[in-house]
Amino acid sequence: MLTLLKTHFGFDQFRPGQEAIIQNVLDNKDAFVIMPTGGGKSLCYQLPALKLAGLTLVVSPLIALMKDQVDALKANGIAAEFINSTLSYNEIERMQADARTGRIKLLYIAPERLASPAFQNFLKTLAVSLIAIDEAHCISEWGHDFRPDYRNLIMLRQNFPQVPTIALTATATEKVREDIITQLNLQKAKIFLASFNRPNLTYVVRPKRNAFDGLLSILEKHKNSSVIIYCFSRKNTENLSADLRAEGFSALPYHAGLDNLARKQTQEKFIRDELRIIVATIAFGMGIDKPDVRLIVHYDLPKTIEGYYQETGRAGRDNLPSECVLFYSFGDTKKHYFFIDQITDNVERESADRKLKQVVEFCELDSCRREFLLSYFGEHNPPAPPLGKGGDTEDLSDSSPSLPRRGLGGGNGCAGCDICLTPKEEFDATIIAQKILSAVIRTGQRFGANYVIKVLKGSAGQKIRERGHENLSVYGIARDHSEDELKSIIKMLIAKKLLVKSADEYQILSLASAGKKFLQLREKIILSKPKSDELRAVKTMEELEYDQALFEKLRQLRKQIADELGVPPFVIFGDVALRQMAYYFPQSQENFSRVSGVGEEKLARFGKVFISQIAGYAREHGLSEKNIPVRRSSAERGVKREGSTYEETKKYFLQKLPIEEIAEKRGLAPSTITGHLEKLILAGEKLDIDYLKPPADRFEKIKKAFHESGGLTLSPVREILGEEYSYDELRFARIFL
Ligand code: ADP
Ligand code: ZN
Repeated sequence: MLTLLKTHFGFDQFRPGQEAIIQNVLDNKDAFVIMPTGGGKSLCYQLPALKLAGLTLVVSPLIALMKDQVDALKANGIAAEFINSTLSYNEIERMQADARTGRIKLLYIAPERLASPAFQNFLKTLAVSLIAIDEAHCISEWGHDFRPDYRNLIMLRQNFPQVPTIALTATATEKVREDIITQLNLQKAKIFLASFNRPNLTYVVRPKRNAFDGLLSILEKHKNSSVIIYCFSRKNTENLSADLRAEGFSALPYHAGLDNLARKQTQEKFIRDELRIIVATIAFGMGIDKPDVRLIVHYDLPKTIEGYYQETGRAGRDNLPSECVLFYSFGDTKKHYFFIDQITDNVERESADRKLKQVVEFCELDSCRREFLLSYFGEHNPPAPPLGKGGDTEDLSDSSPSLPRRGLGGGNGCAGCDICLTPKEEFDATIIAQKILSAVIRTGQRFGANYVIKVLKGSAGQKIRERGHENLSVYGIARDHSEDELKSIIKMLIAKKLLVKSADEYQILSLASAGKKFLQLREKIILSKPKSDELRAVKTMEELEYDQALFEKLRQLRKQIADELGVPPFVIFGDVALRQMAYYFPQSQENFSRVSGVGEEKLARFGKVFISQIAGYAREHGLSEKNIPVRRSSAERGVKREGSTYEETKKYFLQKLPIEEIAEKRGLAPSTITGHLEKLILAGEKLDIDYLKPPADRFEKIKKAFHESGGLTLSPVREILGEEYSYDELRFARIFL
């Protein structure tokens, strides 16, 4: 599979989880994959599809995306097609014929197709090896994107009871996950749950003051890259995009009020890198699948944490560092309450209210924002046990050696949110803490933080006068502290368990026993605060110091080729690939082929033009080519290690000795030697082993049996062939397959 991965997709390694999921699919078992956006879900069915004997049927909800997905596969030299309502009758006929003859490996279909009995009959004529259900949450009414057409999938499951199904989603809520399992009857499926941590995203919340200036400086920082800005209302998107255009940015609004054509054009331009910024209402979403969005801005407050996570999730799908900035003002909640108050259903209204409060809590955090998001989705450190129901569950959360680690709870926090990135300094908070605790006591432990702060600051409120609180000794004793400062210290005192906040909506403060002790024993307390009020420019993660000018040139070349072929630019090469080219300046076929995302097809089709562009630039600027390191899998490293047992065995294969003889010479069992051979071949050793090939008739039989079994596992093949064939022989033949 690793060879196929490099040949077709140009990647050297699997992402966390992919290998286990693919193995499960090849073993003919159902799988339910929950992985955040950008995790690499598509590969989990696209790669097996290449290996399986029959057709892989992919159900996908978004007609607009289907063509891009299929184009991307074709650019990798993979036989893929789609059938949806955008095709003419004749085209559909042709696709159907191609599917029947087995010319197509992956067929994408829209769910509404399945409602037609004629289409169902057509499907029955196909040799289907795998059913992949993308965006599986669309089947659930509990989700944010319910599509009634997805209910048709139940029929698909019934019509192909023997065909394994892989359902995939990035849905974070448990309710929806469970609903998917029930609806699709995936009780026996193995569940693969990946961590929802997005290590390449940096989360930042900024106060919404001079927001437009703030926005401009952020856009400046993300020169030339794609950006999505979310606003509260249609009007906001129109205004903001006009303001941005006036500043010379390429920006357009996107919302449900625009007609279909305008929306489609905007989307298309964005995907084709002809439009840099989309200013959208939060209703905008699923239609976009652009891997290189570098910045997501929430210009207004999101409604729910789920929504926020979903929207920020559109940044950095290609795993390159990307930023998510939210402009927060508490005043924004009013706009939301206006709508929440109109909800007539009590349960629904209260739920909306609770969700909004959680967003506010997120914005006002003094602790790691990533940690908050992850624990919101039930992921703790260490990760929580995954879903209880269904079959086996595999937790993929901690198997990410290839990702830059952005763990939690380390010395520097997650190193990927404004809180953790802001340098802190300690200060003696003894006096101010005493003042705050005293104010809580003097006002009778009956009020929330805002009121206590008013008293401390000596505000002239009517309520304060009515209650006679302006006569208290604590009235006005903290005038020299800002409101924000007091708020933040109160939060820290709660965190330190000196104060308690009631869990109801009033959030009343009272003293915890440690707080009483603190006052009585006149204890000292040290707290930490941000070093300066201004958030230091958030630095992005370690990246390749690539040549920006060459990168731009390559981008233009990519765009030009993409336009000629009528596909989005990322179908040609992703940003990861371009950055590598602009860092290593690869000029030989060999070196160029090591670039991430360069498989055989792309090397053949685009290698020459890109290499000549790189070579020209390198010559002009006196730059020399650097070797791109080949990343080896651990298996490979084992095999290549000098003096290893494999090296030893390899010598004999080079001498073309039969297995038995090698086994004898090495004092090992023949099956061990076969194992060595397997490892050597998988590690890419080019050995001439034709002399070992089993007799043609037996080999043909075995080959047929493997195809029939639809996988590469030995036992099903043995079952087909019977005792007459030993495991060793099958294993041996498999090497040649
Ligand atoms: P998802 O559907 O989970 O959001 P995708 O399947 O779109 O994610 O993959 C996200 C990005 O990661 C794509 O650009 C894809 O090419 C890339 N990708 C997937 N698997 C690998 C891999 N093993 N190595 C490198 N890049 C990968
Ligand atoms: Zn953090």
